[in-house]
Amino acid sequence: MDEIVALSKRRGFIFQTSEIYGGLGSTYDYGHYGVLLRNNVKAEWWRAMLRDRDDIVALDSAILQHPRTWEASGHLEGFTDPLVQCLGKCKKRWREDHLRAEQLGDEKAEGEIRCPECGGELSEPRQFNLMFKTHMGPVEESGSEVYLRPETAQGIFVNFKNVLQFSRKRPPFGIAQIGKSFRNEITPGNFVFRTREFEQMEMEFFVPPADAPEWHQRWMDERMRWYTGLGIRPDQLRLREHGADELSHYSSATSDVEYLFPMGWSELEGIANRGDFDLTQHASFSGEKLEYFDQASGDRYVPYVIEPAAGVDRAVLAFMVDAYEVEEVEGRKRTVLRLHPRLAPVKAAVLPLVSKEGMPERAREVFEAVRAKLPAEYDEGGSIGKRYRRQDEIGTPWCITVDGGTLEDGTVTLRDRDSLEQTRLAAQEIPDELARRLQQPWRSPKLAE
Ligand code: ATP
Repeated sequence: MDEIVALSKRRGFIFQTSEIYGGLGSTYDYGHYGVLLRNNVKAEWWRAMLRDRDDIVALDSAILQHPRTWEASGHLEGFTDPLVQCLGKCKKRWREDHLRAEQLGDEKAEGEIRCPECGGELSEPRQFNLMFKTHMGPVEESGSEVYLRPETAQGIFVNFKNVLQFSRKRPPFGIAQIGKSFRNEITPGNFVFRTREFEQMEMEFFVPPADAPEWHQRWMDERMRWYTGLGIRPDQLRLREHGADELSHYSSATSDVEYLFPMGWSELEGIANRGDFDLTQHASFSGEKLEYFDQASGDRYVPYVIEPAAGVDRAVLAFMVDAYEVEEVEGRKRTVLRLHPRLAPVKAAVLPLVSKEGMPERAREVFEAVRAKLPAEYDEGGSIGKRYRRQDEIGTPWCITVDGGTLEDGTVTLRDRDSLEQTRLAAQEIPDELARRLQQPWRSPKLAE
C-alpha cells in the first residue's frame, strides 16, 4: 500500500488534503490523473447501467435531505458503530467490532480485547452515530438540524414516485446515482479505502417481490463481470455472502464483492436484497403511497429492491493495486500501472525523440490528429527513457515517438506499455490504429505469471 500511496503522490493521482496545514485526518484530494482515472471508473459504471441496457434511469439527488428521511431510513436511530476508548496511555478511540475481529477472530467473539496502540484497557462500548450533522439557515437551534447524507440510496427511494411518473418504466427497473456521501468513521484508514467523505455509485433495482431472489443473483453476476471486464484479476476478487448475524436491519440477503487489497480481503461493493423495507418506511413516514399499480393486471404492490452499492474511491484503489507492477527490464527497474486501456487516464502520449530538428513540430501534428480520437498527451521534456517511464507510471497504454525517420518517410514508432513491443507505422494510420486497439478486449499481463 505504501508504494501505491507514494506513486499516487509522485504522479499526482491522490494527495492528502490541506497538506500545507498538516493535512486533515484521512481526507484526500485527487490531482489531474486521479480525476481522469476516477472519471473513467464512473463513466464505465454509467455505461454498464445506462448505455448497455434500457431498464435503468439516472438521478442526482441533493446531499441534504429532509431530516425525516433519516428517521424513516433508520439512520438516525441505528446507523451507529460500537466505539471503545483506550483507558491506558494513548486514549485513542477504536471500533469494538474491528478489534474483536482482529484480536479474537470474529467481530462478535467474546473475550478480552486491548488497545492495539498501547496495550491499555478499553472502556465499555458506546454507540456512536456516523452521520455528520449541520444546521440549515443562520440560527443554530434544534429544528434547523440537517445531515450530510451517509448514502445516496435514500435520495433514490424518496424520489420513487417522481421517477415512476416521468420515466414511464415499470418493474423490473432501476434508478442509478453517483454522488458524495459522508460518514464520521471512527477509524478511517488504508488510504482512500475508508474515508469520511467518499463517493458512491448506487443503483436501486425495483422488482416484483417474487422475482427478487433471481434478480439478486443476476446483479451479483453482473457486478462481478463488471470488475473482471475492466481488468481486475479474477483470483483477486470474490463474492462473500453475509451470515445471518451480519445482515443489516433492512436486508434479507447481502453479498459483498471483495478484493484482495494489501491489507487483506475487503469490501468493494455490497449487493443487497432490501425487500420492501425502504419504500414501506418512507410511505409510512410521509403518508405518500409508494407502490406500483399495474393497470393491465390490476395488481398493486410495493416492489422489492435489489441494490448494488459500490464506492468510487475503493474501486479506484482496487484498480490501481491490481494494475501496479514493478519489473526489471534490461537490468533496470520499471514501475508500470497495467490499467485496462479504457480506464487509463491518458490513452496515448506523443513524444518527439529530441526537441529539435523539426521533430516537435511534426510531433504536435501527430498529437493533434490523435487527440481528436482519444485522450492524449504531448510531452517533449527530458530524455525519451524518462518520458516512457513517466507514461508507464500513469498507465498510458501507448506511446508514439516521432524521430528522424518520421521526417524522412512519415513513419512513427508505436510502443505498447504491456508488451514493450515497438512497431513502425505510418503516422496517419496512428489515430485509427489506437481507436481500434482501444476497442479490443484486454487481459491483465499479470495473469500469465
Ligand atoms: P464497511 O463495512 O466497509 O464500512 P459498508 O458495508 O458500511 O462498508 P455500504 O453502506 O454497503 O458500506 O456502502 C456501499 C459502498 O460504499 C461500500 O461497499 C464501499 O465501497 C463504499 N463505502 C462505504 N463506506 C465508505 C468509506 N467510509 N470510505 C470509502 N468508501 C466507502
